[in-house]
Amino acid sequence: MSTPQPRPSVAAMPAYVAGKPPVERPGLVTYKLSSNENPYPPLDGVVEIAAEAAGRVNRYPDAGSTELYDALAKAYGVPAEELALSTGAVALIFQLVSAYCGPEDEVVFAWRSFEAYPIAVLAAGATAVKVPVTEGGRHDLDAMAAAITERTKVVFVCTPNNPTGTSVTQTELDAFLAKVPEHVLVVVDEAYAEFVRMDDAIDGIATYRSRANVVVLRTFSKAYGLAGFRVGYAFAPAPIAATLRAMALPFGVNVVAQAAGVASLERQAELLARVDDLVTERTRVVEGIRAAGWDIPDAQGNFVWFAFESAERCAEFAAAADEVGLVVRPYPPEGVRVSIGEAEANTRLIELAGSFPKG
Ligand SMILES: *Cc1c(COP(=O)(O)O)cnc(C)c1O
Repeated sequence: MSTPQPRPSVAAMPAYVAGKPPVERPGLVTYKLSSNENPYPPLDGVVEIAAEAAGRVNRYPDAGSTELYDALAKAYGVPAEELALSTGAVALIFQLVSAYCGPEDEVVFAWRSFEAYPIAVLAAGATAVKVPVTEGGRHDLDAMAAAITERTKVVFVCTPNNPTGTSVTQTELDAFLAKVPEHVLVVVDEAYAEFVRMDDAIDGIATYRSRANVVVLRTFSKAYGLAGFRVGYAFAPAPIAATLRAMALPFGVNVVAQAAGVASLERQAELLARVDDLVTERTRVVEGIRAAGWDIPDAQGNFVWFAFESAERCAEFAAAADEVGLVVRPYPPEGVRVSIGEAEANTRLIELAGSFPKG
């Protein structure tokens, strides 16, 4: 062929499927519950600060994002050199895989899990090793440890797992880390860390600080409600954090996003109170769905998971949700993920769980 061709692994990359926008329904308020977004608008003052920063967009942003690094270091009590900012945690996932993996290498992760993992692996030309989650949607950490070979360079542990919602415990994570060779990088993707309410919950910061091969990913997109600004960050031992910063596109985190991130950290207490409200809603939703007879897994993120046996059933559930003005996220054939949203949306979901045939 005479036209330019990408590497074969790039040509094989699946497209990232984003959550659908809500469908307009006359006489019915519709809700988008398909992207795990925060239903609350930004906190008072954040939009004004972002707008003020937008007045400076003729200039490049601070390439070192100094204020945001300092604010994160202060908020979490870590040295700035152990942080790496990027344009969403998704970008950090790509940077990690590209930095640590080449064409001969393998990346182990649970499946279903976050759909950016296989895309990032193909982008680097590496090989994805998918380890099925248990029937209850949990990571099978024993099987994941067993899947590590001499080719493995990176392992992802997504906790809470998107889309099944379950979390691994600190005890389980420690037992797993003890089995992983020291030269294998373990990426603990905690995009939903702020929503976790369980015994023996992971302390991501203590974990990365006690190991030379652990990276923790966090984001402003979910609990902080800044998905549209694209800011995520990693906690990592200094050499790994430096590698991540080296792999970032120069000036990636823009001037508006930097300002909004700093402003949001200044309002952390207020934001976390909203997270508490979402967790209260999550409890109401999980209890309501279980009371309707569904055996859904423990939900530790801002979403719930309905497991199905076929793509048809996933499509039927998504269509039934559409009918009542809820846009949900099917992952055929395994199941459907539904974000916790506005109270009215959540109530409709509980009602739908009551009326939809369990098959
Ligand atoms: C949403 C999400 C992310 C990252 O989101 P960004 O918006 O890119 O920061 C990372 N991991 C998981 C599991 C997610 O669900």
